[in-house]
Amino acid sequence: MDFAVFDNPRPSVGEALAAQIAFDHYGISGTAEPLAGERDRSFKITCGSREYVLKVGNIADRPDALEAQSAAIEWALAGDPSLPLAEVVRTKSGSMSGRHDGHALQLTRFIAGAPPPESNTPPGLRRRVGQIAGRLSVALRGFDHPTLHRAFPWTLTHLPELAPLLAHVDGRRRGLIVDTLGRFEERIVPVLSRLPHQAAHGDINPDNIVVDPADPDRIVGVFDFGDMSWSPRIIDAAIAATYQCFDTEPTAAMAQVVSAFHAVDPLASVEIDIIPDLVAARCAQSLLMAARSVGTGSENIDYETGDAELMWGVLTRLEEAGRAQMVPRIAAACGFRDQSHRPFEDAMALRMRRLAPTLDLSYDQPVYLSSGEGVWLTDRDGRRLLDAYNNVPHVGHAHPEVVSALASQSRRLTTNTRYLVDGVADYADRLVGLMPDPLSVVWFVNSGSEANDLAYRIARAVTGRRGVITTANAYHGSTTVTATMSPEESGPADFEPWAARVGGKDLLGAAVAAEGLQSQLEAAHHRLAKSGEAPAMVIFDTVFSSDGIFEVPAGLIETARSWADDCGALLVADEVQAGFGRAGTSFWGFASSEAIPDIVTLGKPMGNGYPMGAVVTSETIAAEFASTSHFFSTFAGSPVATAVGTAVLDVIESEDLAANAEVVGAYLKKEIEALGNQHVIDVRGPGLFVGVELHSSGLAEDTVNEMRRRGVLIGSTGPNDEVLKIRPPLVCTQHHVDIIVDALAASLGGA
Ligand code: PMP
Repeated sequence: MDFAVFDNPRPSVGEALAAQIAFDHYGISGTAEPLAGERDRSFKITCGSREYVLKVGNIADRPDALEAQSAAIEWALAGDPSLPLAEVVRTKSGSMSGRHDGHALQLTRFIAGAPPPESNTPPGLRRRVGQIAGRLSVALRGFDHPTLHRAFPWTLTHLPELAPLLAHVDGRRRGLIVDTLGRFEERIVPVLSRLPHQAAHGDINPDNIVVDPADPDRIVGVFDFGDMSWSPRIIDAAIAATYQCFDTEPTAAMAQVVSAFHAVDPLASVEIDIIPDLVAARCAQSLLMAARSVGTGSENIDYETGDAELMWGVLTRLEEAGRAQMVPRIAAACGFRDQSHRPFEDAMALRMRRLAPTLDLSYDQPVYLSSGEGVWLTDRDGRRLLDAYNNVPHVGHAHPEVVSALASQSRRLTTNTRYLVDGVADYADRLVGLMPDPLSVVWFVNSGSEANDLAYRIARAVTGRRGVITTANAYHGSTTVTATMSPEESGPADFEPWAARVGGKDLLGAAVAAEGLQSQLEAAHHRLAKSGEAPAMVIFDTVFSSDGIFEVPAGLIETARSWADDCGALLVADEVQAGFGRAGTSFWGFASSEAIPDIVTLGKPMGNGYPMGAVVTSETIAAEFASTSHFFSTFAGSPVATAVGTAVLDVIESEDLAANAEVVGAYLKKEIEALGNQHVIDVRGPGLFVGVELHSSGLAEDTVNEMRRRGVLIGSTGPNDEVLKIRPPLVCTQHHVDIIVDALAASLGGA
């Protein structure tokens, strides 16, 4: 651990020199007055009615440390301009950071205000502190700088490296700090990699806050970004909470701060679970640093030990109350319902009693989940499972940007599409921008089933016919009509006279499908005609998921397109499975061909778990439908839904997930093929949607269950359920693929 900036004396700069520096570098002629500080020297510069803070950096610090702080302030203010941060004043030459005699310089506006009350803190202020920490967390997201990654004693996650400082502590304090370090290793270190990391302020404490003297609940300034680090974002909530426990019972104070943070920047339960341990860790860190200051005879000892007794008070109160008891109360304040102690058998019994019997649980050993993050799920026993099945959390479970968009729009407004609200049509415009002409008009719905149901209504209205042609084992939804056009669901025996099927492995597995499809479509047409029907639409799931997962064979969509045109039917691409980049950089399954469908239906990944679906078509078809029909859906296309949809698209773009699907999907297929396992007949599928055809459905079922036991969740599909379905969130990396393939190799058995 590098203590250089603490060992090195603070810059020897007095008032006169500070005033001179302000003038020379910033053109500000004023008087200087010293302010308290740990490693740097700070001065209030007064120039008439204008007031500033000049910081002169410690020479032992990184030369770009102050520049990083200024850049962070500018970044946060760009994201949330009303945050009460001290604006950065640039040097005469326009730079964010000046330099005097080897020392870095920073000038910001001075924010006038009063220090928060030292005792009897009003709960309102505690909430404001949590809220401001949450806002800062959201605003700092996306910011990064090399300084944030330095080894720095005040970075809370580096606490174990402060253990040598125990040499300066003895007695009961030593025992409790040793316990706290042990608990840190036990409870925090194992979950660190699962916590969302970002630029964190790292020191939201009352010395770095000022309030409005006339309204002490109102925070008017937050400063000192000197302890910023790349850390789990939860540390800002925990550190802010620590200082709010000084004069009170800690559970209530933590609950107030953390729930207010959570309301602005929603936290996952894995983050809330460690709050009391992080608060204790902050106390231990502070006590160790204070002990070091005493032990080394620091010149700044009063400042450096100022909080020690208060920190000791918090640590002992935490110990007396028992940290484990605190988590449920903090979680409850955040709106989490605590059922963590419900036994598995009780949860199963309740479910069996109250949920309809058609709703199956997956796996012979059902999974009892508590949280998710990225590709990982955590079960009630804290065991991590790699989710390689779920294509709904498309950009990863609990993606902070998506959750944050959902929460902030819910706080502002939600309503239906009968009002003009910014964001809704913007999202439709964004969606349409991802599709070829003439697909340009959107209906929002709430699921893939509704999307296909509406597509069928449109096709019926536009063609005046009832017939539907699907693939042989397709699934298109759960409404009465979509279930009937889903042979996987209804079975061919229950097929209505208006539905007919094409496909099968011979067609979908063929390299070129044009001729085969042509003759199958004609036969289907003929069958419909025999019952007095004609095709209104031909619909394809463009990854043929229930048919066994296939890449779109060459010529298939083109053939369907020209055949539909000739016979007057519409062509519908069901992108519920393949869309939004899962199939790779073509972004849509159909887009691997030249042909453009009349209607595209969307669902599953669109809202990353928030129920969203859509139907996209041309202006001509939309107008024809509107001339005879109405369509409105209460929840569909709400400002909340479209805010979520927009965040999902933002993440797909910013994290380049369509390209990732292509690269990681290709790697996954290659690695499975490389196993050369005797039970594997075929490995296929576009992008990150991989089918592994096995010799039998029994083997597929056993493999899926064995993978689950080994901590990897997959499924099976295909007409005989003989194809393993591997379809992880698109944030899956090659490292995750290695885990999947190792588990697959071990589960398949054989050579
Ligand atoms: N179309 C396809 C291709 C699907 O896979 C599904 C769902 N598995 C649906 C439509 C129906 O979507 P939802 O369950 O969201 O209604």
